[in-house]
Amino acid sequence: MTKLTGECLCGAISFEAEGEVPVMANCHCTACRQSTGSAYASLMFMKQDDVKITGTPKTYQHKSDAGTVMTKHFCENCGTPLFTQNSAREGMLGLRAGVINEQQEFTPKVNVYVSSKLDSTVLDEALPAFEKMPG
Ligand SMILES: [Zn+2]
Ligand SMILES: [Zn+2]
Repeated sequence: MTKLTGECLCGAISFEAEGEVPVMANCHCTACRQSTGSAYASLMFMKQDDVKITGTPKTYQHKSDAGTVMTKHFCENCGTPLFTQNSAREGMLGLRAGVINEQQEFTPKVNVYVSSKLDSTVLDEALPAFEKMPG
């Protein structure tokens, strides 16, 4: 059982989560780089029901290259990206690892979409790396 808390930069949106975290990944896809403004997105996927959100994030939907609907949740006041959803993973919510307080809980298990990573990003060779999304 993992307990996570976090909030956006301005504090308008916060969350508390408790449950299993079956997927922890770094995603290097172009959409993740654009929507986070960072070299890659670090994500912790939990059951949506295990995450209690205070405040109302704004959402933006787009199609992934696999044709699924992606929903990004962010604070419309300060712009912090908080959550992401993929229609292919119904009921799951991806928490952005950079906003959690319990940083020691983030131990990425895989790198995905390394085909579109920045040249300067050095991958942990101990982790499996996938050109796109596995399975
Ligand atoms: Zn905010
Ligand atoms: Zn991605």
